[in-house]
Amino acid sequence: MKLATFSHNGTTRIGRVEGDAIVDLASSGLPTEMCAFFAAGEEASAAAARADGPRIAVAEVDLRPPVLRPPKFLALGLNYADHIAETGMKKPEFPMFFNKQSTCVSGSGDPIHLPRASDKLDYEGELGIVIGKRCRHVPEDRASEVIAGFLIVNDVSVRDWQFRAQTMILGKGWDTHGPIGPWITSRDEVGDPHSLELKTWVNGELRQHSNTKHLIFDCYNLIATITTMCTLEPGDVISTGTPSGVGIGFDPKRFLVAGDTVRIEIDGLGTLENPVIDEPASTATF
Ligand code: ZN
Repeated sequence: MKLATFSHNGTTRIGRVEGDAIVDLASSGLPTEMCAFFAAGEEASAAAARADGPRIAVAEVDLRPPVLRPPKFLALGLNYADHIAETGMKKPEFPMFFNKQSTCVSGSGDPIHLPRASDKLDYEGELGIVIGKRCRHVPEDRASEVIAGFLIVNDVSVRDWQFRAQTMILGKGWDTHGPIGPWITSRDEVGDPHSLELKTWVNGELRQHSNTKHLIFDCYNLIATITTMCTLEPGDVISTGTPSGVGIGFDPKRFLVAGDTVRIEIDGLGTLENPVIDEPASTATF
């Protein structure tokens, strides 16, 4: 099952994606927001899988981030060997988690802002895990049970700000710099998440091409590690890291500019495509 969050005719709700259409679940009695939907448990998922409703063409809706405000938005540094090589850094002995801000999420088609404060804007195509169950101390061999599904993440990064502090956080959570989507594909439909082709294009030029089999710390290891430390909740997103081919890895470096379009595809998960625009004046509240 593929579940999207979308806006249409003035309301935002979830629906089941089938081919080029979304089955609107608004009249099914199920929660219309993704975190609440996952919290409602497996019965809600089973009901969503069989529910009927009006069908709306995907092209006619505004696809929103599948989770509008993830309780946590975690990501990984240096989790593919080829990316470590292009950065000249050392392979970490422990997964290098950092936080993206939950306010930076956006949906497929939404613009990525080129900040007024930096021209070192970069893309990172990544596999994202969406948590479906409240959980703590999850054993690695049972970690798949807490995964609702998977989506594509563009871990947009502002490189000069990223390297101003070792936590990297200053470069990772700018508004609009967390495109996620286009929807959530359930784990049963994905099957093995560690055998998926991942490709990123900038303006039609293939920049990243790898496979999730090359992850250093795999999805289950990441969940076991992070739940040793904290509780994960429905709707939390963990982005698993990027392979080589990011803009900063080229010589000369190839940062994003206004007018560019970044498109990411992962097997079975769809396409996440976002244009780059100059940060509009309207972002300032002072
Ligand atoms: Zn990343």
